[in-house]
Amino acid sequence: MSGARSKMVSVAFVLTVMTVMSVLAPTTVGLGDAEASAADGVSSPMNVTEYLYRDFAEVVEVLEETAAAHPGIARLVDIGDGWEKTQGIADRDILAMRITDNPDIEEGEPDVLFMARQHANEPTPTEIALQLIENLTDLYGSDTRISWLVDNRDIWIIPVVNPDGMDYFTDTGENWRKNRHLNYDGSYGVDLNRNYAGSENGDPLGEWSVGASLVPSDVDYCGEYAFSEPETQAVRDLALDQRFEVAIDFHMSGDVICWPWGYTTNATPDDDDFTRIGSELSKLNGYLAAQSYVTGLLAGDSVDWLYGGGGAYSFLFEVGGWLDYFHPDDQYGIVQEQIAENIPPALLLAEIAGDRSELRFDIDHHPLDDSSYSETGFEVSARITAERDVDQGAQLLRYRVDGGDWTELTMTPANAMGVYTAIIPSAAAGSVIDYYIVAHDNGGVELMSPMYAPYEVHSFQVLSTG
Ligand SMILES: [Zn+2]
Repeated sequence: MSGARSKMVSVAFVLTVMTVMSVLAPTTVGLGDAEASAADGVSSPMNVTEYLYRDFAEVVEVLEETAAAHPGIARLVDIGDGWEKTQGIADRDILAMRITDNPDIEEGEPDVLFMARQHANEPTPTEIALQLIENLTDLYGSDTRISWLVDNRDIWIIPVVNPDGMDYFTDTGENWRKNRHLNYDGSYGVDLNRNYAGSENGDPLGEWSVGASLVPSDVDYCGEYAFSEPETQAVRDLALDQRFEVAIDFHMSGDVICWPWGYTTNATPDDDDFTRIGSELSKLNGYLAAQSYVTGLLAGDSVDWLYGGGGAYSFLFEVGGWLDYFHPDDQYGIVQEQIAENIPPALLLAEIAGDRSELRFDIDHHPLDDSSYSETGFEVSARITAERDVDQGAQLLRYRVDGGDWTELTMTPANAMGVYTAIIPSAAAGSVIDYYIVAHDNGGVELMSPMYAPYEVHSFQVLSTG
């Protein structure tokens, strides 16, 4: 399973880079006389007036257009309000794009979350999220792997968790990180990524506020209590509703991939899985992969809560080189590289969502060659083995003749060695028969041969006997 997957990844990566280059043409946004402040303890080059990053209104427009253009696979969902909307002083929603086949129903497919822009002054993550949305919708039906993912996953993408802060950042040019909550002391903003309930036991007071500030005017102020902010409440409620298998929260910067815990140096019970998956992801973007505390002990962030409270295998990506935040339009090639290098690991994680533990599960099948006409049909045989054991009655063969409708057969056990067989009925000489195998293990994991069926299939031709 893993071997087949890594082979496909390189192919998809080429497609992805091409798509980024051909499709990404955002409009320019003026930032006025921008001036960097000391958010994040660094100053950033903000003295250029034109940026290619999209502003919040443009993001909303892109999302609405995309949902309208792809009604079969995309739904734009309003998951909550920015703080200013809750006060009646602005009207910004937190929008999530749901991408899956049959987007109006729950099919029990593995749920995947990508979120971005909790921090207003980290613009590239929003563009990564929008590029993911564009790839998953525009390439559906033409790219084998994308089509398979949309059919077999329930993917939620939030390009802007902090719309008020983003608008403020764009409009004023101030290097603004937090949301726009008017605090009790007259200062503005809560650091949303310090506002989640901190640790695995959900105890908001136990570990919460470690590595953050309790002073409202500080750039990393954690808020008055865990989940005090409507923005973090929106993420929490979606996560509790969907029960994501995997998640990525995109930030800037540092070229790092992190996983829980961040509030303690202790490893999670799933550390073997986190370490293995983190390493697989990092091979695709070259980032350092490590448990979250390596960037400093820190409680109240999404990566800890999405795992401890939400049950997801959650990762935090710090996109771009250390201290790398903003790029003027003549450096937009750098942003395009940062987008391109993060699409492949995102797609890989969506794939891994089908089996986070990646336990061994194999279909050993030698595809049928072109075959002479036979009155008795054509036997398909495969050895199906799984570490969780095979779900005996749920091995399926789907076939079609000359591109017609698919017919499903149940494969039956042929021996004690895990071999299953089914017989495709006879078809006239000259016919082309496509088929694929769908196997299930006792953990509810589904595996196909070929892997991205039915977007790739086994095929053979029925030869005349003469
Ligand atoms: Zn951040």
